Amino acid sequence: MKRILLEVVLVLSLAGAGFFGWTNLQKNKLASAEIAATLIKAEVAEELLKDSEKEVETVENALDALEETLDPLKEKALELDAVKAAIADGPLLKDVETLYSKDKKLSVERQLSLGALRMLVKGSDDPATTEAFNKALQMADWGSRKNSICAAQIGLAAAGQKVKVMSECAVQPPVDAKSTQADPKAHGAAAGGAAHASPADSKDHGKDVKTAGAHAAPHWGYEGVMGPDNWGKEFPTCGKGKSQSPLNIKSPFVRGRISVTADYKAGPLRILNNGHTIQVNVKSGSKLRIDGVPHDLLQFHFHRPSEEHIDGKPSAMVIHFVHKNAAGKLAVLGVLLKEGNENPGIQTLWANAPATEGPEVVMEDVSFNPGNLLPREFDFFSYEGSLTTPPCTEGVRFFILKTPVNISRAQISGFPFKMNARPVQPQNGRIITAG
Ligand SMILES: [Zn+2]
Repeated sequence: MKRILLEVVLVLSLAGAGFFGWTNLQKNKLASAEIAATLIKAEVAEELLKDSEKEVETVENALDALEETLDPLKEKALELDAVKAAIADGPLLKDVETLYSKDKKLSVERQLSLGALRMLVKGSDDPATTEAFNKALQMADWGSRKNSICAAQIGLAAAGQKVKVMSECAVQPPVDAKSTQADPKAHGAAAGGAAHASPADSKDHGKDVKTAGAHAAPHWGYEGVMGPDNWGKEFPTCGKGKSQSPLNIKSPFVRGRISVTADYKAGPLRILNNGHTIQVNVKSGSKLRIDGVPHDLLQFHFHRPSEEHIDGKPSAMVIHFVHKNAAGKLAVLGVLLKEGNENPGIQTLWANAPATEGPEVVMEDVSFNPGNLLPREFDFFSYEGSLTTPPCTEGVRFFILKTPVNISRAQISGFPFKMNARPVQPQNGRIITAG
């Protein structure tokens, strides 16, 4: 709760102090006291540091960093005071709600500030308010949230508070945004070319984060300017490719004679939230055999709703099992999830899935067999497609099982991404086989 409150304060201070409802002092006492204490303590620390003659160079550098992070906070604190003085009580939240209700679709930032404002006015003990805010937080750009969290952590740490500063917060010289964006590694797709991060990529990514704090914020998503319509600007294949996934699977079909069998093994659960989906990384040993040729299972991940449509309709969700053979060819096995009974396998995954973006978590004592997520029947549709996330690399064979697997309504809403499906792409004469 403390972290949520801290984020509320920071998000508000960054997302427009003009809308602060600093009205309900009883309920907001904790949040306002926290930022006030942070600022006072940080200022004291700053003074002490300034006065001391004995400072070594490293401390001076730390002070520079601290001042940089504090300045914006100080400014916002002044704005806050002004807002506090200007607004006695009441109508602010309603005003903002009215103002925003004119927008058909609220940007994530606006949802976030509205959520934060409701939090401050209604208090953090209202579960509906807290949940809505948490959802907005999950959709928010991690980069901007990270900046605010880092500023707070560095400030608190410098003020002598016991606070763990995230490795991502290491102070770095400014990085040229263009060159960062051009770095394919930053997308966690790259080398292996797997949809989303392959296991190896995610490890590299974690290393990058530790050594280079200014790692790229996600620059693609599923909504607005970051959404699929604009992926092509930065990732040309997403816009110009002629064999893109997903597809709307509809007849006519060509009769397929491909044999596909899954031979998945249990192992310790390695799970992560990569900011676009929940992904489970898989150690070597689990295989999909396509006409006898083994393809190693690298990872599997989820989309809500399903990216593939059958006869124009999506399922509640889909699991993509991503495989690669010795020649480097990728194959994705899609298992559609339809609303029904609770799924025990997914129960285990959701219980261990990080709610917010971060590195892989290894649960040594949780053994998981991906085979438990497969239906018994193995009839499938098949076509040549692409990664469904940037950089949308083509040459990926898709096998979408005809038989869906159950997932309960509660489990669907327990998935931390409300919408992470790319729209269906033009078929461009591609053949869909059914077997
Ligand atoms: Zn996928």
